[in-house]
Amino acid sequence: MKTAAIIGAGLGGLSASIYLKSKGWNVDVYEAQSFPGGKAAEETFDGYRFDIGPSLVTMPWVFEDVFKTAGKDINKELTLVKLKEICTYFLSDGTYLKAWSDLDNFGRDLEKIAPGSQKSLKRYLKEAEKAHRLGGNLFLTQPIHEIRTLLKPSTLLKLVRFAGIHPFSTLNKINKKYFKDPRIVQLFNRYATYNGSSPFLTPATMIIIPFIEYIGGGYGIGEGIYEIPKKIHKAAVDLGVKFYFNQRVEKINLQNKKLRGISTKYADKDYDAVVSDADVLSTYDKLLDLPDLKQAKRYKKLEPSSSGIVFYWGINRTFEELSVNNIFFSSNYPAEFKAMFEEKTMPEEPTVYVNITSKLTPSDAPEGCENWFVLLNAPADCNQNWNEIVSNARKATINLLSKRLGTNIESHIETEGILTPPHIEKRTGSTYGSLYGISSNTKMSAFMRHRNRSKNIKGLYFCSSSAHPGGGMPLVISSGKICANLIEKFSGD
Ligand SMILES: Cc1cc2nc3c(=O)[nH]c(=O)nc-3n(C[C@H](O)[C@H](O)[C@H](O)COP(=O)(O)OP(=O)(O)OC[C@H]3O[C@@H](n4cnc5c(N)ncnc54)[C@H](O)[C@@H]3O)c2cc1C
Repeated sequence: MKTAAIIGAGLGGLSASIYLKSKGWNVDVYEAQSFPGGKAAEETFDGYRFDIGPSLVTMPWVFEDVFKTAGKDINKELTLVKLKEICTYFLSDGTYLKAWSDLDNFGRDLEKIAPGSQKSLKRYLKEAEKAHRLGGNLFLTQPIHEIRTLLKPSTLLKLVRFAGIHPFSTLNKINKKYFKDPRIVQLFNRYATYNGSSPFLTPATMIIIPFIEYIGGGYGIGEGIYEIPKKIHKAAVDLGVKFYFNQRVEKINLQNKKLRGISTKYADKDYDAVVSDADVLSTYDKLLDLPDLKQAKRYKKLEPSSSGIVFYWGINRTFEELSVNNIFFSSNYPAEFKAMFEEKTMPEEPTVYVNITSKLTPSDAPEGCENWFVLLNAPADCNQNWNEIVSNARKATINLLSKRLGTNIESHIETEGILTPPHIEKRTGSTYGSLYGISSNTKMSAFMRHRNRSKNIKGLYFCSSSAHPGGGMPLVISSGKICANLIEKFSGD
């Protein structure tokens, strides 16, 4: 039986372990922390439960597939709750708008505040559907850097057609083409942040993201998002994958430029394949000690995706006007992205995302209270003064929320946790604390992510957010599957 080591039990690593084990490999997973999930962790304090990272599930079919491969039914493992109200928006002028999953309802409410938008929404989603049909499947499920993939006539045809769907425009430009009201343009511009990018730079093909959310649905998990890695981990264990927690891989060992195995504090072990769910840069710099390899140098030059500042607030009252997901838009969106990507700091007034799982699962907060996960997009870490930045951002967030909700939010915070970009790097090894690997701020970014199979080191594979197809829970699960397929294909070569 061939053997593989997986470095990291983030969702990418967990997925790779299941797909590879199901192909008959012997799989060991090494995880530096004491629990699976990586960025998708949870914490409980003072009677409140918080998901530390992801809050919204999209593309449920990707999750379904990984459970099915492990012989499990997702609906028996998790309570997937399709959100009727995907998000409540507090637009920059204070207008309140619910994005319903029922598109007739959403269109009707859009029309009330921005006449003409109902028709535009239909046309916009049709355009997005076309982009998804032509390129979505190819980019999200195939190893796009493999010559064997690229030379397939079906891939070439898709790439030619894909080139016809606005890669040279930006998300902001295409949104302005469809929606005349700047507040609605801002609403659809926010989807650039789903992969840590700027709507003013990211290609218009990113309209695939709202398509996936509105057509595929936005979901919460009744037991909390952390239940996803917990249950995938259990499914992997039931399948026979071995996990070694609290065991950081210190080195990937090579022999004549070919992979040999890995070393931890406790042992050196040989493997036929190694899959790194650790960040690409830390894999080159720390695990391979090859910072000067061409691929490492190329990757280092790419712009990291945005990071985040999160406040986990226990709030001592409930807010009926809020949903599970809520966005409070700033009045100057371009300034936010300029601050984040050019000045590497926070804007004076940030857009604020508030996720409240106690609306779905009341036991996540004490009775009469709510657990607020308050996320601000933030620049990747480059040694900024985070104490000062976080303190100013906290004040700006409280000001914005207090103004929009008509109450002094500070007085309702009874307990608090804080996550910053340096914390994200420390907890998960994500270089610069970036949430989604590299940004998608260039026309070619879909091709710039790190390939899944190393070109230089036979037997080495990459499945984290920094590898193809990118960050976000469904994408890293897909990355794990792509790696397992590649290992099967190339292990005999
Ligand atoms: C605040 C926040 C909000 C987010 N919101 C969403 C959302 O709403 N929806 C969504 O889909 N996605 C969201 N994401 C992104 C999503 O969480 C990530 O893209 C995804 O979980 C990353 O998975 P990964 O496989 O790349 O690994 P990670 O989660 O980064 O895990 C990597 C694992 O590898 C381990 N590791 C690293 N180096 C070593 C080593 N040398 N030896 C052993 N173990 C090692 C780490 O300890 C870690 O457990 C969010 C992320 C954050 C932080």
